[in-house]
Amino acid sequence: MKIGFIGLGRMGGHMARNVLSSGEHEMRVFDLSRAAMEALVEDGAIAAASPREAATGADIVFTSLPGPSDVLEVALGEAGVLDSLEPGSVYVDLSTVSPQTLQTVAESAARGVQVLDCPVSGGVAGAEAGNLCLMAGGDRETFDRIKPVLDLIGEPEKVLHCGDVGAGSVCKLVNNLIGLSTGVVLGEAFSMGIAAKVDPGVLFQVVMGSSGASAALAQWDESVLAGNFEPGFALSLGAKDVRLATDLARSLGIPMEMANLTDQKYTEALRAGLGDEASAAVVKLQERRTGAEIRYADDRE
Ligand code: NAD
Repeated sequence: MKIGFIGLGRMGGHMARNVLSSGEHEMRVFDLSRAAMEALVEDGAIAAASPREAATGADIVFTSLPGPSDVLEVALGEAGVLDSLEPGSVYVDLSTVSPQTLQTVAESAARGVQVLDCPVSGGVAGAEAGNLCLMAGGDRETFDRIKPVLDLIGEPEKVLHCGDVGAGSVCKLVNNLIGLSTGVVLGEAFSMGIAAKVDPGVLFQVVMGSSGASAALAQWDESVLAGNFEPGFALSLGAKDVRLATDLARSLGIPMEMANLTDQKYTEALRAGLGDEASAAVVKLQERRTGAEIRYADDRE
């Protein structure tokens, strides 16, 4: 098939490469960053001069972009992709955005052009390994038809159809609200344990072997506890996701006190200049308040 891929960042670069390296598809790519494009061109992709050029003649166009305004611009803007898509082609957005974002795009799509929202989970490591969870919203038949391509990006049994357009984004916001809120709670709980003189490495082992274990904590082994705050998943993107979740709840009339506290924490973290660090760096707010860093001891075995 002919594939267009727009947005070759930390996630998109790996996802595009996994589709390309199957050897089954031709690919045109576009990113605002020339360097990001060149990395894919070295692997056999063709560089395009605009999103529209990447999309022209494509059977499937993927985007992996920071947030809703970027997706709306790339899909519907002046050099946007939607106008250039032929009937029978599919536009798949892999970004984390509001459910309304792809609903708006779908409303503007010409007859015969299908639109799927298809956010992903599993981080940069999952994107590189090609074993992400994909959560798609949109026409079921279209999803089934392109699943072999989606399976190049995700673990086949974790490539899921969630409902109509927007349902994938709802699932993603539910997931990320849980993970990002957990990051805040972990910071408070660990700082309490450390103030009470228990070693952070011991706390980690105990909680990971107990009912408090979580995917968010598992990641601390290589992030917070190791003192490594390189993103991965940038805190600014995490803050965006929590805000998208609280906005969705507000639009539905659903009260969510905890989520709004989490939103305030990530807002504070952005103000503290932590936006370009890993999302786990939200813990630094608590570390600064308590004066104790949550790190493995230097002499750890
Ligand atoms: P990133 O910032 O590393 O990459 C975004 C890319 O989009 C950049 O290369 C940027 O140049 C490009 N871009 C921005 N505007 C553009 C435009 N108008 N035209 C073309 N290219 C444009 O972000 P990322 O970490 O790869 O995340 C991408 C999306 O995936 C986000 O919505 C994020 O929330 C989501 N996500 C990220 C992770 C993660 O672990 N990083 C995990 C799951 C989901």
